[in-house]
Amino acid sequence: MTEQEGTSVQKHSQSSEREAGIRSSVAAGLPVAIADLSDLVRIPSVSWDGFDASAVAQSAEAVAALFEATGVFDAVSVKRANTETGEAGQPAVLATRTARNGKPTVLLYAHHDVQPPGNDADWNSPPFEPTVRGDRLYGRGAADDKAGVVSHVAAVRALAESYGDDLELGLVVFIEGEEEFGSRSFADFLEQNREALAADVIVVADSDNWNIDTPALTISLRGNVTLKLTVSTLSHASHSGMFGGAAPDAMLATIRLLSTLHTTDGSVAVEGLTSSGEAVPESSDADFIVDAGLLPGVTPIGTGPLLGRLWAKPAITVTGIDAPSVQNASNTLQPQVSVKISARIAPGQDARVAFEALKTHLYANAPFGAHLEISDVDTGQAFLVDTSGWAVAEAKQAMADAWGVDPVETGVGGSIPFIADLVRVFPEAQILVTGVEDPDTRAHSPNESLHLGVFKRAILTEALLLSRLAEKRLTDF
Ligand SMILES: [Zn+2]
Repeated sequence: MTEQEGTSVQKHSQSSEREAGIRSSVAAGLPVAIADLSDLVRIPSVSWDGFDASAVAQSAEAVAALFEATGVFDAVSVKRANTETGEAGQPAVLATRTARNGKPTVLLYAHHDVQPPGNDADWNSPPFEPTVRGDRLYGRGAADDKAGVVSHVAAVRALAESYGDDLELGLVVFIEGEEEFGSRSFADFLEQNREALAADVIVVADSDNWNIDTPALTISLRGNVTLKLTVSTLSHASHSGMFGGAAPDAMLATIRLLSTLHTTDGSVAVEGLTSSGEAVPESSDADFIVDAGLLPGVTPIGTGPLLGRLWAKPAITVTGIDAPSVQNASNTLQPQVSVKISARIAPGQDARVAFEALKTHLYANAPFGAHLEISDVDTGQAFLVDTSGWAVAEAKQAMADAWGVDPVETGVGGSIPFIADLVRVFPEAQILVTGVEDPDTRAHSPNESLHLGVFKRAILTEALLLSRLAEKRLTDF
């Protein structure tokens, strides 16, 4: 054996000893992690207007205390962004530990705010009372995204137990408080804390896994465009018997206009909205039909592989309509109708370009000379991960080792628009979108839940990833 081989064997056994320690720390720490998560779920941190903002503040303090207690960070604080409107953002948690010896710095992102619970009667156990049934923990935020928050806490704890004062890895924790309300002050927060947030790798723990046995790294996200469209045809309402058949009512104009957005098979028919053409894994139509709850005889819309429709093509949905209710319907020609249009944009297309294409289509197809007004426009950029970086390779290896199964690279049909802000402010950073969810999580819906086996494997993945990055200098890559 040469001296060099001797060193590398020794190093190898040191690192496998280290990893065995990490594995046992994560396993031993799981009950504490579940208890911490349960405490967070009890705080109804809904970030929407009209909900008690003090709960979001309380949740931020609780999250800060968890990171403080790891003993790993030089500084932990609860911070709000100052916005242009003068309104402060919801409270975020920021914690930092400076890298030493040329080691990389990793930013861990999650959010501690949650969606409103909806109707309590739709829940099998109260939304803010964490409840274990079978392998799953139920509650609003149990998965999205308080499990993301606690997976960071638990991974950092395992790292601290393994390294003690020898930890040279740089760490930044950013736990947002208004992701579910559109991340309104996110860009301001980035600008105002740019130095503290700077990192080589950013782990966004707010996505999905392929299933409870197979991990996924999310590599593409659709963007979105939402807008309010108001269609007007008459200066006042009229009797439908006196004028119907000759005067065009706004409802007819709206129906005919909206029908031009799709072809007869349900594909998007707006010129200028593009598809990304990315390759997708095979999936079962039958699973999709069950997951989406299609009624007997109802067929999926669109063409091509199902996952391609969800990840790589645009979609347009009318999500709301302001018109008289059925109960209040009189025999009247409506002068004006408003609808909310929500479009998903394929990766690779700029959301503002997509908005212009949609707007052009609507004006070009307005029937009977109807007047259109477009307002309340909101856009979020799509995202494609550059999978050639070292961080992606390390993350996939850590997933394979923690789960015992190779990860799937997935797209997500939904949007995480703030990722585009991260890329803009930190163009050099490599972004890893990981998650604790699985296809049965029902994030945003009643009976949201976390699979506890997935939770454990997600914590172990992150702990292994961090410990491996802690062994490398940036010059090693
Ligand atoms: Zn989320």
